[in-house]
Amino acid sequence: MPDRLTYLDHAATTPLRPEAAAAMAPWLGDRFGNPSGAHRVARAARQAVDEARDVVAAAVGCRPGDVVFTGGGTEADNLAVLGVHAARPGPVLCSAVEHEAVLVPVAAAGGRTVGVDAAGRLDLDALAGALDPDTTLVSVMAANNQVGTVQPLPDVAEVVRERAPHAAVHADAVQAATWLDLPPLLAGSALVSLSSHKVGGPQGVGALVVRQGTPLRARALGGGQERELRSGTHNVAGIAGFAAALAAVLASREATAARVRALADRLASGLVATVPGATETVPDRAARLPGLVHLCIPGIESEALLFLLDDAGVCASAASACASGAHEASHVLAAMGVPPSRGAGALRLSLGWSSTEADVDHALAVIPAAAARLRGAAA
Ligand code: PLP
Repeated sequence: MPDRLTYLDHAATTPLRPEAAAAMAPWLGDRFGNPSGAHRVARAARQAVDEARDVVAAAVGCRPGDVVFTGGGTEADNLAVLGVHAARPGPVLCSAVEHEAVLVPVAAAGGRTVGVDAAGRLDLDALAGALDPDTTLVSVMAANNQVGTVQPLPDVAEVVRERAPHAAVHADAVQAATWLDLPPLLAGSALVSLSSHKVGGPQGVGALVVRQGTPLRARALGGGQERELRSGTHNVAGIAGFAAALAAVLASREATAARVRALADRLASGLVATVPGATETVPDRAARLPGLVHLCIPGIESEALLFLLDDAGVCASAASACASGAHEASHVLAAMGVPPSRGAGALRLSLGWSSTEADVDHALAVIPAAAARLRGAAA
């Protein structure tokens, strides 16, 4: 066992915030009830869900009635893409750097991807060229989960309004919700996905915001919960934990973002200075999320590096956490034009609300030595 554990994979999942644990505890104990019922026990559960709905609505800048609770970000993304496509079949577009939870349903709907520049930012001219008046859905993430690039969503919404006035814009804000002021960013998005475990809530809960008038057909059919858009008994404990985490984020976002950005910048600068050839994949730090450091290290394989880091107590990742754990070439780096030889040495270090100066010190002590050892072995 390593002496110290440094968790630098907050983009994969971030630890449960104490506020979330406290909000969940009663619903895992003596409070219970199916929010769809009529009696007092059910009504108490419904009140907890409705209070959570108010928190999510305030975070996004929508009406409480627009919030549809789901079983996580992936389900929200699928409901947005496949639900709009089912309600109004037609051409569908998304950026080439979306999470698989968008890319796969867009492909299933026969949709196409739009390219990005070297920093991972959507090419707005290419978007304008790809839109036609019949386009029904455009899905662009608020911020990328691998490299952290923030997308120009207000500009996306404007281009879509001009070229495809009937199209709905869907924004996957799963990674952005921890760091960015969402209402101005998402004002032009008809649909917004959120995930609880990325903001410090429990896993397996999320929400899709569906603004009034957006055509959407349910995927999960049954009891008609959530305005008939997502059948299934509510996960009351999970929803309460999600809202408490989000409220904690909202209460301290600017201070946390500034603190974590300073840590991330020290980590990035330290690694660029001490790991030969290492470069930041998105050099403009203002263009990416505060907690995300993505590097390409020449002459090493990510998988071997991550193994050494894990052994030394530093938890990091190469691209994003995937079900198989296998590291395949990143579609995000490919879309940004990063050559496969550079992408092979990708390292994602993602910081979060619980990250400390000591974490950065530990990473700076371990990573250069591990990279040198791999280089030495390869020489
Ligand atoms: N969208 C983005 C941008 C993500 O980073 C993730 C999780 O990695 C998801 C969607 C999926 O969310 P969930 O893990 O809640 O299914």
